[in-house]
Amino acid sequence: MTIPEQKIEEVRAAANIYDFISPHISLKKRGRNYIGLCPFHNEKTPSFTVSEEKQIFHCFGCHAGGNVYRFIMDYQKISFIEAVQEVAKQVGITIEVSETEQTEGQSEQESLLDINTAAAKYFLDNLLNSHEGETARQYFERRKIKLQTIRTFGLGYALPAWEAFINFAREKNIDLNKSVQLGLIGKTNEGRLYDKFSGRIIFPIFSSTGRVIAFGGRILENRENAAKYLNSPESIVYTKGRVLYGLSHAKDDIRKLDKAILVEGYMDLISLHQAGIKNVVAVSGTALTEEQVQLLSRYTKNVVLLFDADAAGMKAAMRSIELLLQRDMEIKIASLPVGEDPDSYVNNFGKQAFEEIINRAQNFLEYQTDYFQKQGLFNEPATSAEAIRELMKPVALINDELKRTLLIKTIAKKFNLREMLIEDELRKILAGQHKVELIEAKRREVTESKVLDSILPAEKKIPQQIINLEVELIKLLFEGSEKTVELIVHHVNEEMLSSDAHITIFNHVADAYNASADLTAGALIERIKDEKIQRYISNIILEKYTVSKIWEEFHPGESREKILEKYTKDTLCKYKHAHLDERANEYYTEMENAGNDEKKIDIMKLLRDLNKEKQLISEELR
Ligand SMILES: [Zn+2]
Repeated sequence: MTIPEQKIEEVRAAANIYDFISPHISLKKRGRNYIGLCPFHNEKTPSFTVSEEKQIFHCFGCHAGGNVYRFIMDYQKISFIEAVQEVAKQVGITIEVSETEQTEGQSEQESLLDINTAAAKYFLDNLLNSHEGETARQYFERRKIKLQTIRTFGLGYALPAWEAFINFAREKNIDLNKSVQLGLIGKTNEGRLYDKFSGRIIFPIFSSTGRVIAFGGRILENRENAAKYLNSPESIVYTKGRVLYGLSHAKDDIRKLDKAILVEGYMDLISLHQAGIKNVVAVSGTALTEEQVQLLSRYTKNVVLLFDADAAGMKAAMRSIELLLQRDMEIKIASLPVGEDPDSYVNNFGKQAFEEIINRAQNFLEYQTDYFQKQGLFNEPATSAEAIRELMKPVALINDELKRTLLIKTIAKKFNLREMLIEDELRKILAGQHKVELIEAKRREVTESKVLDSILPAEKKIPQQIINLEVELIKLLFEGSEKTVELIVHHVNEEMLSSDAHITIFNHVADAYNASADLTAGALIERIKDEKIQRYISNIILEKYTVSKIWEEFHPGESREKILEKYTKDTLCKYKHAHLDERANEYYTEMENAGNDEKKIDIMKLLRDLNKEKQLISEELR
């Protein structure tokens, strides 16, 4: 579906970006703006800036930026349409979905999601009603999965055939190429199409808002040369590391209980959910990623990891623990008796027994120390030192110093270790880490300037002075002042601008001005669909600078509007002069190369005209 531009703007104008960001991020007032810790990258000092005045946000660390829609899209990992709907809901505006708009101009993303939804329904129907589905039904029966649970998670079965889904897709007019993109259909080297999930149990993977974005398929019978699990490839609707399986089903309970249980497999999660333990998410397939931790941290800071109690399980968990610690999560580790997994355990012993296991979960450091002790590592000085070093690595990731100290004390006491020894080791690691941080900060600076360079011209030789003034004018277009925009639109034309990005921005703002549309930055940015340009704009207009700041100091007591106007005129004047000076330079070069005096006189006339033009500009822009 599409939403009319007018509606999109109406909703945006009714929303205050601050109200949409502040519930999620603690913001502090600084000058005209608000700042806070960026939710899109890991940082200790705030570089995430929100401007209520301009209705935009920008992070100077990772360059995320845009208006309220961009924030909701990136934060909730949802599509543009969904973001508009979400904002509309919160500001109390109803969006009518007209039938005609639904088929025409449907976004690529929406059409892919529709295919996934149709496929999920088809797989579910196979599982429940088809003759061939019997083996799959038996599988779920053996795993004690009830019909209601199958429906809740939309579980399904892909018939063991070459073209069962393909035929279904043809019948329903589903785009086959898009189905290939989504990994529902495969293509042999000879170009023959085939059902990708053929013969597999299907686990639809939902976005946090409950849309089917991908599928996981588990093989039902042991087949040679076939992987046990098959996952959809990444697509524009699915980024592997950004999704937690089961989150859409678990998020309410996670919030309510302020705790999330992290398990490894689909079936673990589904069995627990069926048993009434619903605050569960699964990593499934990949190692836990930073994005997943970030996603989870929106719902709770308390995580219980549930994994195999063997050395391999421990090792796998360590990486997850580190990522969780960096986000300041409280981590506990629960382990099940040898030979049990969450699925089997809850089926054999029930909900209460499982909850006891969760309640007995140990702090991660305690757990690991315990584990090392059982292995006898603390018996020998050499292995003991090595073990302590291992223990302190994750501790060093905790930002809160008090928490760190407390942890060390507890561990030292409990395991009879020398506190000093532990602290020494921690100090060494922290010193090393500080160095890494400095290097990272430096690297960020470099990439930051690259972001800007990539959008500004490289080919044309344009004097830096012109570019600087031009950037200043672009900034001024977003000050929300009609007078300022009018001046710039009147005095600048496309040919003067140095880059395609600036031309795009200029034209969009000019269009808005000519249509008497809203000129706040948040509204203007919406007109410019290019995400890279949006980020560029939010970056330059929220820069520490600012234009008017400096001028206000020079012109105390004058209104902001007046100061802006003066500054705009001054900048325009300098900009236009700079262009004329450029042309003058060309004339001088020509004159030097001119053969006869007649030619020289002609050029001198041109130069005189240029000077007159400069004077006129100065007068006009006084
Ligand atoms: Zn950031």
